[in-house]
Amino acid sequence: MRASSNNPLRIVLLGPPGAGKGTQSELLCARLHIPHISTGELLREAQHAGTRLGRIATACIDKGGLIPDEVITGVVEDRLNSARTHTGFALDGFPRTVAQADGLELILHHLGVQLTAVLYYDTPEDVLIQRLAGRWTCEGCGHIYNFDEPQSGSSKPCDICGGKLYRRADDNPEAIRTRFKVYHECTQPLVEYYASRRLLHTIAAIGQVEEIYLRSLQTLGISN
Ligand code: AMP
Repeated sequence: MRASSNNPLRIVLLGPPGAGKGTQSELLCARLHIPHISTGELLREAQHAGTRLGRIATACIDKGGLIPDEVITGVVEDRLNSARTHTGFALDGFPRTVAQADGLELILHHLGVQLTAVLYYDTPEDVLIQRLAGRWTCEGCGHIYNFDEPQSGSSKPCDICGGKLYRRADDNPEAIRTRFKVYHECTQPLVEYYASRRLLHTIAAIGQVEEIYLRSLQTLGISN
């Protein structure tokens, strides 16, 4: 199946830090040929490039806080206004607050389109902590790895591009605690928000990446 201008899939991936939204978005976007819009990734790129957005992000990301709603909503609006999203998109890490969800509704309304589905990756906290402890990201292509033995990432190159793997600065215990707190206070209410709009689909985000991916495809009514 290929998303097209006749059959655009506009999805949001929702879930706590470590739920696997990044990994699942990457797989779904490759399968569905739609752009992957990860606000975390956009912010890390801006940090790297030293732009104004990057400087705003630096003040918040490493401590585990959120960057202001109006700033991130503006970034997403620019992306959604681009022609590349005509065949659909997957939003990963946005919205994260009710204000952002309201902002998204307004942007989509102006574009004359609607969300297809919100995939909520429901994950027990012990699984989240274990995943975050073993998470490494490729410096070159951004691919995410999860190792059972957290130190493994320091000696392995990326299987895809050979790039060096790094640990995210906000995957330290203190920032992780803050991110969970922020998630419960600011993001968890979106479960109810999208359930009340009949867009929410809950996916048990436990087990192997491939199993969760198959559940995601099934939820979207797509064959493997
Ligand atoms: P992520 O890669 O999705 O885990 O995002 C990493 C960090 O980027 C978050 O902990 C926030 O500091 C920031 N961030 C990403 N998306 C958003 C958003 N939608 N609103 C506010 N801050 C965000």
